[in-house]
Amino acid sequence: MTNFFNLSKIEDPQLEDYYAKSMLELNDFFGIKWKHHTPVVFVVNDRDTINILHGEETGEWIVGWISGGNIVFVLNKDKFGEHSVHKYDDNDYYKLIKHELAHLFFKVITGNKTDPKWLWEGVSILVSGQAEKWGKPAGFKGFLDGKDVYIESGYALLLLTKKYGDDKLIQFLKAYKDFDGDVSVLFKETYGLDLNYGTFNGLLRS
Ligand SMILES: [Zn+2]
Repeated sequence: MTNFFNLSKIEDPQLEDYYAKSMLELNDFFGIKWKHHTPVVFVVNDRDTINILHGEETGEWIVGWISGGNIVFVLNKDKFGEHSVHKYDDNDYYKLIKHELAHLFFKVITGNKTDPKWLWEGVSILVSGQAEKWGKPAGFKGFLDGKDVYIESGYALLLLTKKYGDDKLIQFLKAYKDFDGDVSVLFKETYGLDLNYGTFNGLLRS
């Protein structure tokens, strides 16, 4: 049983730079000014500790997650080779940090929502720049049902925002805060589109 962990501050200008750039862009994208209790990032050094903090065995692809309202955990960049399946890359690491921070912004703007999974992950994949980096899927066929969310949902939102703008997505997320029904109803109200694969495959081919 392990319930105690060592914590100490890190002085790393590169990481601070990634953080500052992410926060600036995320505040801008989500249209807020996060000033108090701003996010903190805990750097974890090994898979064992990740599993304990995460509360379950994690796959080697998991290198970041969030906790509560302002905490991000990421695997130490120097431990990627040893404790993950990912090859370390500076730019990918920046996007990873931004992806996790974006989840915290999503919670702020939607009043603590973390679902549906395609929207929750899609927004982070979109705003972190991962959607553009990871590229276009062959077609949309699973993300709305929680399948292939990492492959499809970010790009789906990229196509949506390219056509209708970022502001429309923010309007949708803000409205989602006070909305308890089926998200497809709100989607239809906001975009005038049916929330189905046909809609996104149409955007992909237009
Ligand atoms: Zn995520």
